[in-house]
Amino acid sequence: MVSYKKKCSLCKKNYVLTNNSRPFIICYECQKAEMDKPIDDPEMKAMFTIPEELYKKNSFLCNIKVNYLRYGSLSEKQVEAFKRVAKELQDEEKNKSKIEE
Ligand SMILES: [Zn+2]
Repeated sequence: MVSYKKKCSLCKKNYVLTNNSRPFIICYECQKAEMDKPIDDPEMKAMFTIPEELYKKNSFLCNIKVNYLRYGSLSEKQVEAFKRVAKELQDEEKNKSKIEE
């Protein structure tokens, strides 16, 4: 897969690294503004409380959170996928820091 840089569709300022040809693409900064909304459901709040780095690295996690904030709910599949990806990324980080030590 080829990755290339595209200008953010929202702010038209930042570049986003992408590997698909979606016409609408937004940078992390713009997405962050959408993600920084309070979550009332304590269970969801706990699930979305992961290091910011993970959101930066993985736009899938951002999309799930934005979806939740937009629609107020997620399907079971989305919740499972979020938990799985977040865990995988966190494990990856742990392994990395072990090697560096
Ligand atoms: Zn932007």
